[in-house]
Amino acid sequence: MRPKILITDRIHEVAIEEARGFADVDLNFGLSHEELIEKIGKYDALIVRSGTKVTKEVIEKSNLKIIGRAGVGLDNIDMEAARKRGIMVVNSPEASTISVAELVIGSLIALMRNIIQAHTSMKEGKWERSKFMGNELFGKTMGIIGFGRIGREVALRAIAFGMDVLVYDPGITGEDAREYNCRLLDLDELLKNSDIVTLHVPLTDATRGMIDERRLNMMKNSAILVNIARGGLVDEEALYRVLKENKIKGAVLDVFEEEPPRGSKLLGLDNVVLTPHLGASTDEAQINAGTVVVEKIKNFFRE
Ligand code: NAD
Repeated sequence: MRPKILITDRIHEVAIEEARGFADVDLNFGLSHEELIEKIGKYDALIVRSGTKVTKEVIEKSNLKIIGRAGVGLDNIDMEAARKRGIMVVNSPEASTISVAELVIGSLIALMRNIIQAHTSMKEGKWERSKFMGNELFGKTMGIIGFGRIGREVALRAIAFGMDVLVYDPGITGEDAREYNCRLLDLDELLKNSDIVTLHVPLTDATRGMIDERRLNMMKNSAILVNIARGGLVDEEALYRVLKENKIKGAVLDVFEEEPPRGSKLLGLDNVVLTPHLGASTDEAQINAGTVVVEKIKNFFRE
């Protein structure tokens, strides 16, 4: 028997085609809550992104065996109601790992080689060769805070560039770090010894504001801070001050306490590279978000 899957938020066409390979698939975008409750009874699986609210009512009216969230956050799914009904919930946090790791390296080189300023200067008709002296990544020390999926991919790329890599993550052992040719240190030692500090931790009560004024002041004057993880990990007011006073050299920011960061003083600085939460904005990450979930659902029905 082919399972019946309802997809209520737009996922990539490639993923829909994969689902059609093993299941009967209905696409129904923009359903109201009432319409979803009315239809859900005849499906074995539901695939959503963040748009569809999978409430207790939806779950209780359903005969679902599995719910797939293409992407990361599960805030739109009543997990407790799903657990009580024995419905499995799967998501695809791994989908954007490579995209984020590549943005770290790309933005860092853009900052260190003044690529954005040089490009803007040329567009203004100038040819300012001596103004844009940069630095190499080679031989520098990268400190990675959070050595999970993304942190590890960043480490592999940093090592390929000839960097030394220090890591801080209470969830891993020194042996885990050594497997990646990295060295595990405590947070303060990592901050003092790194030329580049990059954050790859989730935003939790324990990590909110972890990079505060005291910790920013531990960093080298020549150091660069990279936050492509979550706004809220870094105290932005304090970051502005240390950047303005050249207590650190620069910052790469893809995420902000408030998005968009309207009126933020960080927007007025020269020693930053800013992007509007583009970490997962690649064709590949978007395809993966859907295909990873479809693959998990396929395996579930196979077992
Ligand atoms: P992951 O769960 O694989 O890894 C997170 C790591 O952080 C784990 O190893 C964990 O032990 C560690 N950690 C937890 N608390 C810590 C603490 N207090 N100090 C140090 N380490 C701690 O997650 P991931 O897939 O690598 O993603 C990391 C973060 O990147 C996500 O939580 C998300 O916020 C962010 N992200 C951003 C974008 C973007 O578009 N900019 C895209 C994807 C992910």
